Amino acid sequence: MTSTVISPAVLKQKFIQSSSPTHLGLAVSATEQCNFRCTYCYEDFEIGEMSDATYTALKLFVAKRMPQLKSFTLSWFGGEPLLALDKTVDFTRYCNDLAAQYGVRMPRATMPTNASALTPKNLVALVDAGVRHFMISLDGQADAHNQTRKTIGGKPTFDRVYRNLLAVRACRTEQPFEILLRLHLHENNIASQLALAEQLSADFAADSRFDILPIAVGDFGGAPVKSLALLRSNSDSIKGEIYRRFGRGNQAAAQEEWDVCYAAKWNHLFIRPDGRISKCTSALNRADNDIGRLLENGEIEFDEQKALLWGFGFQTGKKNDLDCPFFDKPQEQTPIRFYSKTTLLENTAALEFAPAREANNGPVVTSAVAENNLPVIS
Ligand code: SF4
Repeated sequence: MTSTVISPAVLKQKFIQSSSPTHLGLAVSATEQCNFRCTYCYEDFEIGEMSDATYTALKLFVAKRMPQLKSFTLSWFGGEPLLALDKTVDFTRYCNDLAAQYGVRMPRATMPTNASALTPKNLVALVDAGVRHFMISLDGQADAHNQTRKTIGGKPTFDRVYRNLLAVRACRTEQPFEILLRLHLHENNIASQLALAEQLSADFAADSRFDILPIAVGDFGGAPVKSLALLRSNSDSIKGEIYRRFGRGNQAAAQEEWDVCYAAKWNHLFIRPDGRISKCTSALNRADNDIGRLLENGEIEFDEQKALLWGFGFQTGKKNDLDCPFFDKPQEQTPIRFYSKTTLLENTAALEFAPAREANNGPVVTSAVAENNLPVIS
């Protein structure tokens, strides 16, 4: 597949943002358990809720890092985050309090949820703590949705999810919140998603807190997804028709500046419930994604080369490699030219970005060894 090459100016800007030591992005899974078993889910549900010891270590880690930061982002991940509601509320509030104490900019925290437990009471608790952007998946109207999004016991889920959506629509919280409805597409639910878009238009389009995002189901591993008929054709026209029926354009895309995937950012980490550290939230069982672990004292230990390789797109300059490094990422043996001992979390301020000098070299980072004890790479 061909891929757009990113302009040097944009690449440089994104490189600096993605390696800045004054920013930290965390995706956190407080549990990998889920009460659903969606037929395309790539998770194996083997890890339960984060232990108290790991949770304490996570708080220590953030407490140590926060004073050095200018900005901090928090995204929840699962399993189903609401199965660990107490920790998600407590940790979000803890991070917000720390950020306020040190004058660190912390935008709203985000959370994907299957919405089975997103009652008004739970929503209010989360919004109060600082989780203010929710992503909820719908696979069509009831018949289609219930084929692919079932409970762990195989029961339908549409009615409960939709009931909760209508209930939270009636919520007036002190702080604003947003709900992005992700309309999953595959070959066998297109008609149902088109009909759902009309239903959603009637129920939610007038409320600016709700928006939709039609999105094709992808194969991110695991056996279940292999039995699903993934979209064969380009889905742009289907997505366009879904937006039209909902009654709004693609607002999210219109507002958002393009950004690299968080897995490609060196100042972004994914903390799993057992204290392991990863880059990608999809490649859960890939050895190259297991880059380190959180220690009890709140320090982290990680394999720098493994971590840096997730940002290989800064070397190729290709948009696809920075949009999603999951598919084409080189394996461990591949040397990376901008390797630096301290790139991930500490002093990268002196790193310099130089445009490629040869066609295959890609962008090259040089650094001042004497000042920063970093290896020179040119
Ligand atoms: S709700 Fe999410 S985590 Fe749970 S089974 Fe479905 S896709 Fe997987």
